[in-house]
Amino acid sequence: MISNTLARKEWTSAKRIVVKIGSALLVDRATGSLRAEWLATLADDVAALAAQGKDVVLVSSGAIALGRHVLKLPKGALALEQSQAAAAVGQISLSSAYRDVFHARGLTVAQILLTLGDTEERRRYLNARRTIDTLIERKAIAVVNENDTVATTEIRYGDNDRLSARVASMITADCLVLLSDIDGLYTAPPGTTPDARRIDEVRAITPEIEAMAGDAGSELSKGGMKTKVEAGKIALGSGTNMVIASGKRLHPLRQLIEGAPCTWFVASSDAVTARKRWIAGQLEPAGAVHVDAGAEKALASGKSLLPAGVMRVDGTFERGDAVVIRGTSGVELGRGIIGYDAAEAALIVGKKSSEIAAILGHGGRAELIHRDDMALNR
Ligand code: GLU
Repeated sequence: MISNTLARKEWTSAKRIVVKIGSALLVDRATGSLRAEWLATLADDVAALAAQGKDVVLVSSGAIALGRHVLKLPKGALALEQSQAAAAVGQISLSSAYRDVFHARGLTVAQILLTLGDTEERRRYLNARRTIDTLIERKAIAVVNENDTVATTEIRYGDNDRLSARVASMITADCLVLLSDIDGLYTAPPGTTPDARRIDEVRAITPEIEAMAGDAGSELSKGGMKTKVEAGKIALGSGTNMVIASGKRLHPLRQLIEGAPCTWFVASSDAVTARKRWIAGQLEPAGAVHVDAGAEKALASGKSLLPAGVMRVDGTFERGDAVVIRGTSGVELGRGIIGYDAAEAALIVGKKSSEIAAILGHGGRAELIHRDDMALNR
């Protein structure tokens, strides 16, 4: 097996990293207890990345695996209500384990439980993105999981591979690490096929790659290789590089610097460009905001659009919809995802951000369109 001899630039240059931790790594299968030593070395690695100024967000499984043992649920597949009950119990232990292990390293941990709608609906997507961004700004480590206790079959991911890819896309991460019990994508299941070969690099999810994924998962973890390849699709479409690496050893992230074998999914554009392209192209604009000359200048210099710089809005849009941004001459300056619905926007245009709370009766965001949610024409 050929191993990578050097750390890849996809890893060394990544500034914002999402790490997905599978249940099988975190929870001892036989005893149902947390693998504390492993978790401590993961926390060391994350703390080292944070010390280098990198933003790290964790997506951790393990709630169900921890809780099912406590509730003495039977082995094998659980009914939906059983896994929801298990998650309700296990999530507490999971969060407190992360809190303790990072606290010991001087870092604050935040728990974020998401449901499918939080990443799929644009209005809620903005909320989750801003919350995680705020945590990152304050140097807290967000630990994300699916809100298994309320997610039902129809509205759940069911696996944290795809959830972590959505989170990576949502926060414009450069790199997603899937720590798993296998060190990459193989041409065939390595357990049963002697000449199975690990792939070093994937640049596009072709039907051949999909065929390699098969669908096996283990009893503890929901996803097999199939959901990892689906995560790869989401990541590549969002300009996020992804790596599938084995998390079996201690210091599971350090191995990426040491060039351990793994499979890299390499995106053809960077995450910010991909997001801007998505904003610029994919969405049907639901309205327009007309900005004054001062705001036009501010936007050109990379600032967010504040209500004060807007003369009027038209159209019926919801918070999170795409709108066209028009300059004084009526020309389209670009597009953006708006932070207020049409009725609220109409009330606050031309006003100072400090007046928003008094006008709307509730505190809101200072920006009408945040600069990260904007794609300007050049
Ligand atoms: N959200 C589930 C849990 O915390 C895990 C899903 C998965 O294994 O991908 O137990």
